[in-house]
Amino acid sequence: MKVANTKENLMKCICGNCPTYNECMKEKMEGLFCARGKATCALEKKGCICGECPVQSENDLDGMYYCNAGEAE
Ligand code: SF4
Ligand code: SF4
Repeated sequence: MKVANTKENLMKCICGNCPTYNECMKEKMEGLFCARGKATCALEKKGCICGECPVQSENDLDGMYYCNAGEAE
């Protein structure tokens, strides 16, 4: 299911607590990658906590690393 790019979903996004979330993403205020697509920042995979996120369960997603893989289908 496609994830809606809404302020509500952005508020629920927990990417900011993720070890992969880096300074560049923080500076650009990136997040909600499952809806908005890949990060514009270079990144190193250090774990993904999307599995613990309400947006993941509410939208029946089962993916990870949306910041690297792009938006959920
Ligand atoms: S599933 Fe991942 S990318 Fe999507 S809102 Fe949650 S933490 Fe952010
Ligand atoms: S999409 Fe997953 S790996 Fe990327 S920052 Fe969000 S929680 Fe971390």
